[in-house]
Amino acid sequence: MKHIFLWIACFLMGSFTFAQTKSKRPPIIDVHMHSVTLQQLQRDAQMPLPISGLKPPESVEQHIKQTLAVMDRYNVVLGLVSGYEYEGIEKFRQSAPARVWAGPQFGRPMLNVDTLRMRYKSGLFSVMGEVTTQYAGISPSDPGLDPYFSLAESLGVPVGIHTGISFPGITRAAPRFRVSLGNPLLFEELLNRHPNLRVWIAHAGWPYLEETIGILLVYPQVYLDIAVINWILPREEFYAYLKALIRAGFGWRIMYGSDQMSWPDVIGASIEAINQADFLSESQKRDILYNNAARFLRLTPEQTAKHQGDSKK
Ligand SMILES: [Zn+2]
Repeated sequence: MKHIFLWIACFLMGSFTFAQTKSKRPPIIDVHMHSVTLQQLQRDAQMPLPISGLKPPESVEQHIKQTLAVMDRYNVVLGLVSGYEYEGIEKFRQSAPARVWAGPQFGRPMLNVDTLRMRYKSGLFSVMGEVTTQYAGISPSDPGLDPYFSLAESLGVPVGIHTGISFPGITRAAPRFRVSLGNPLLFEELLNRHPNLRVWIAHAGWPYLEETIGILLVYPQVYLDIAVINWILPREEFYAYLKALIRAGFGWRIMYGSDQMSWPDVIGASIEAINQADFLSESQKRDILYNNAARFLRLTPEQTAKHQGDSKK
């Protein structure tokens, strides 16, 4: 008899451990990812990654594979992936169509609007951006971009626009880049010309804190992501900036993004930066890592239930 109890106890403990190892982390949405070209990987191989010294993957296929592997590890259930080359973006999307929303990356208004419309209507694209006007030396409110923003507005497509930050010495590689063109105050004209456009400020406008708060206050449709600043800035500076945005009342509009570029491993590092922030409550972490993006992207109850359900399996 004693043996039977012992056996049952062992069985129960065994199933508990099994259930524990099977339960996944809660779901995460990464709103800022990129597909890359081989040239980009080769160029970035010359540039050591600031946080770990790791080199980029050697091929585009490896980059996609490693990015998806980190997404699996951290239960990133949805990634918004943009790139300059349609072929590369599509390759990425096809590798995990249920988890990737693709979009074009562009600065100057050079894309064909009809082709873009077709790609949105056929489901190849679901987001617009990262729009990198700062690198192209133009304002995000440049009238030349109006056809794209009108298209996004009419289709209800969310648009992410780069702001603020880049690498030291960037004007040698991108001579038109200007710090001043990364100021989120430059969003103001486009927001008024396209009142129904769903826009987010990529990189949270850092270092333009006051201007970012000003835009968030007046334009409630605007969200932001914390990509790059969550792994490239000194941790104390990132936390101070994040704290200031939350203190100003905008914790419900901050979305997690990695901007992994050539380095898939920064996805994990940037998620840990949120998990390790002891000034954030568990519910604030969940808002940043999932809930805010789910609201902004208008995920359906079925989609969110699936994401939550997947995590409990
Ligand atoms: Zn960017």
